[in-house]
Amino acid sequence: MKYDDYFRSELTRLKDEGNYRVFADLERERGAFPKARNHIDDAVRDVTIWCSNDYLGMGQNPEVLAAMHEALDTVGAGAGGTRNISGTTHHHVLLERELADLHGKEAALLFTSGYVSNWATLGTLGAKIPGLVILSDALNHASMIEGIRHSKAQKVIWKHNDLDDLEAHLMALPANAPKLIAFESVYSMDGDIAPIKEICDLADRYNAMTYLDEVHAVGMYGPRGGGIAEREGLMDRIDIIEGTLGKAFGVVGGYIAASADLVDFVRSFASGFIFTTALPPAVAAGACASIRHLKASAAERDLQKDKVAKVREKLDEIGIPHIPNPSHIIPVMVGDPVKCKFISDTLMDQFGIYIQPINYPTVPKGTERLRITPGPVHSEADIERLVGALCTLWTQCQLARQPLAAQ
Ligand code: PMP
Repeated sequence: MKYDDYFRSELTRLKDEGNYRVFADLERERGAFPKARNHIDDAVRDVTIWCSNDYLGMGQNPEVLAAMHEALDTVGAGAGGTRNISGTTHHHVLLERELADLHGKEAALLFTSGYVSNWATLGTLGAKIPGLVILSDALNHASMIEGIRHSKAQKVIWKHNDLDDLEAHLMALPANAPKLIAFESVYSMDGDIAPIKEICDLADRYNAMTYLDEVHAVGMYGPRGGGIAEREGLMDRIDIIEGTLGKAFGVVGGYIAASADLVDFVRSFASGFIFTTALPPAVAAGACASIRHLKASAAERDLQKDKVAKVREKLDEIGIPHIPNPSHIIPVMVGDPVKCKFISDTLMDQFGIYIQPINYPTVPKGTERLRITPGPVHSEADIERLVGALCTLWTQCQLARQPLAAQ
C-alpha cells in the first residue's frame, strides 16, 4: 500500500526506542475477575490482572450486568444517531440526571469517553470564551492538553500541584482576563492528590473558573463516590467536574457536571459532543446502575482500601520501593525501561501475573514503573503471590531495596 514503507520505518524507530506498545489479548472471566485468560499466539494462559482501571470490579457487578441485559433486550443495541438526531434515549437522560446528582450540580452532559469530554469541553470553552486564559497543571492528562491546544486559547502551564507557581501566574495575568484553572484530583501515574481547597481559594482570589478531572476518583472517594471533591466537601467550589464511566464505574463513557448554563453552552457548541453517535443505551443503563450502586454502597470502596493497604504493607516489609501517596494507585518504581519490561514479561510468563510496564514517554525517563491497582476482588493469596514474585524478580534484576525506615 501507499506509504507503508513510511509507516514501517516509523514503527521500527518506535521499537528501537523501546516505546512500541504491545497489548495483552485478554478475556476477563465473568464472576472471577481479576482472573483472566491471555491469548498468546495460539496458547491461552491464566492470569491475574493487577493493572486494571476497573478499580472496584463494577464491570462484573451483577446489578450492572442485569441493567445492561435489560436495556439491550428492551431497546436494542445502538443509540441510532447523534444525541441531536434521534440518539437521545431515556437511558441517556436518566444517566445525566444521576451524574448531576452525584456531583451536586444542576446538570451533566455525556460524551463517548472521558478523553472526549476533556477534549471537547476544554476545546469549546477555550475557543468560545473571548480572551480565556487556561492555566493547566503540568501533569494534566493528554486529553486536557489536546483540548486546550485545539482551542487555540492562551495556555499557561503551572508546576504540578505547586500553589506558589499557580499564584505567580495568576498574578501576572491581567485582572480582567477570563481565566480557567484546569487540574486533576488523583493523578494517575504518581497517585498523588491535588490541594483542591487551596486551588479553589486562589481561583476565588483571582476570579478564575475551576475545571477538575476526577477520572481516577469518581466512584472511589467520598461517601457516595462523588470523588475527592465530595470527600473534602468542595464540590460546590468546582465549576466543572469531569469524570469517566470507564474506570471505577466499570463501563465506558465520559461526562461533565456543572451549572445548567455551562452544560447547555457545551452541549450547543462542542463538536465532539454534537457530531458523534450517542453511547449505546445499554451502556448508559449499566453506568446508571453502577453509579446508583456505588452511591449507596461503600462496601467495594472499603474492601479496596483494605487491599491497597495490605499490598503497600507487604511491599514495605520486603523493601520494594513505591511512591507513598494517599490514593489507591501503587507505583512500584523500577527506574529502568529494560528491567521494567523484563519484570512485566516475566511476571506474565512465569507467574501468571499481568502488570503493564509504564515507560517513557508516559512517565519521565528514569522513573519507569509498574503501576499496581489492587481491587476488592484480589484475594489474600493473590497478594502473597504478587509480592513473592516481585521479591524474586527484584533480586534477579539486582534492583535496590529500601530499608523500611526510609520509605
Ligand atoms: N483523564 C485522565 C486523568 C485519565 O487518566 C484518562 C484515561 N486514562 C482520561 C481522562 C480519559 O478517560 P477515558 O478512559 O474515559 O477516555
